[in-house]
Amino acid sequence: MRLAIAEINLQALAHNLAQVKRFAPGCKVMAVLKANAYGHGLVKIAQYLNDADAFAVARIDEALALRAGGLTKPIVLLEGFFHQDDLPILLANNFQTIIHDENQLATLENTSLDAPIACWLKVNTGMHRLGIAPSQFESFYSRLKASQNARDDIKLMTHFSCADDINDEKTAQQIALFNSLADGKNEQHCLANSAGIIAWPKGHGEWIRPGLMLYGVSPMLNGVGQQHGLEPVMRLTTRVIAIRDVDADQCVGYGGRWHSDKPTKLAVVAMGYGDGYPRHAEQGTPVVIKSQRYGIVGSVAMDMITVDIGDNRDNIKVGDEVIMWGPELPVEEIAQCATTIPYELLCNITPRVSYEYQE
Ligand SMILES: *Cc1c(COP(=O)(O)O)cnc(C)c1O
Repeated sequence: MRLAIAEINLQALAHNLAQVKRFAPGCKVMAVLKANAYGHGLVKIAQYLNDADAFAVARIDEALALRAGGLTKPIVLLEGFFHQDDLPILLANNFQTIIHDENQLATLENTSLDAPIACWLKVNTGMHRLGIAPSQFESFYSRLKASQNARDDIKLMTHFSCADDINDEKTAQQIALFNSLADGKNEQHCLANSAGIIAWPKGHGEWIRPGLMLYGVSPMLNGVGQQHGLEPVMRLTTRVIAIRDVDADQCVGYGGRWHSDKPTKLAVVAMGYGDGYPRHAEQGTPVVIKSQRYGIVGSVAMDMITVDIGDNRDNIKVGDEVIMWGPELPVEEIAQCATTIPYELLCNITPRVSYEYQE
């Protein structure tokens, strides 16, 4: 009997990419595959994104893994390169780089390369993470244009900090600042992550960078219950491995964090933080067994979780499937129960979980 399984629905993935394109008609899509494609499996996910124009990852190793897996689309390195020695690797593998600071630009300028590299100039418009200051834009842009090591078209990019909140004016300010710099240049623009794609059409530009929405999950603040026409790609399941009776007034699990106020039955479920399930999931966080919701009780352990099934009127048995999240139980909701975001839950799936890809 296989226990923790992440079922990956590849048709849902393709549907979501089509839905991305409906949100941003005519835009080129850079599909974001960092962190093992948000826990969905890097190469396998990339293989089913034929309709994307490029891939984006955070680190060179992720990009090399895509090439090793036989993927040939352009790959954008969202943090750029870190060392001069990386540049020949970029060139040999058709990797494109972000340029976000002086070190990178100087290294690019001062290295001898056989051919130019495709560059994306990243401007900080208010996120204050990566990106050159707006005041540096003109000088960086003209230096890149002049460098023989940068391909002639310099794509222009920024990143939103608050696009998930439709009431936050910051995004409109970021778009305005970006446009004030970029409008005079005849280059392609790239601003929007998933939330930007869904909520800020003025920030679409020529290129978009969807991550989370490709996996069928809402990027929006209060995303619980918002589907945006997307379909969840992952269903995380496991099995019941024991059913037990608990008397009234018993403390259950590590630290005795839950207390039975009446006699009840518990289903012990083979899933824990060793699989990536959040240890901080609150009492009552739902799971689905036989199409019914039940709440978890006690502490999430490394390998097991206990679920209160009351008088077990659904006749739950050892071996029954338990859905931790998926189409029947939005991961957005589990994230809320664990005071985190769905991004973190998806990325945290551990190698102990087996993957099943469904075409
Ligand atoms: C991760 C990331 C994205 C994708 O963000 P989502 O919210 O998952 O769509 C886009 N751009 C940059 C720079 C990123 O780091």
